[in-house]
Amino acid sequence: MRVGSGIDVHAFGPGDAVVLGGVRIAHSRGVVAHSDGDVLLHALVDALLGAAALGDIGQHFPDTDPRWKGADSARFVTATVELLAQAGWKVVNADLTLLAEAPRIGPWRDAIRSGVAGLLGLPRACVNLKATTTEHLGFVGRSEGLMAMATVLIDER
Ligand code: MG
Repeated sequence: MRVGSGIDVHAFGPGDAVVLGGVRIAHSRGVVAHSDGDVLLHALVDALLGAAALGDIGQHFPDTDPRWKGADSARFVTATVELLAQAGWKVVNADLTLLAEAPRIGPWRDAIRSGVAGLLGLPRACVNLKATTTEHLGFVGRSEGLMAMATVLIDER
């Protein structure tokens, strides 16, 4: 068994929606990103790669590569799960945390969990999603951007 952790940040920018855990959520701003800027899935990918000692998201899906412009980050997750499988690993569970003042994700929590579980080939009970504000402190608290953290456990297939 191995554990991995991941962190991702994106700045808010022009737009009317953010994509979080594969779910498009209407918001007063968008995010600045080469792909769809899904902080939850990017943190998850880094946690998966970290657990398997396979590097980081920037090595596998560089933001200079036109293939990933505007990309649905679900593609990064499925490709990473496949990389882990080739290396002899399966995912056991994932625990995700969103740090944001807004949007509030309560109404979408179960949809996000189900979607992420589907990408990982797990039942929804093996994917948790937490959210917190930072009490108006720091860049998250000033609503300058979004941050996500992920922890995963993997095991031999
Ligand atoms: Mg990112």
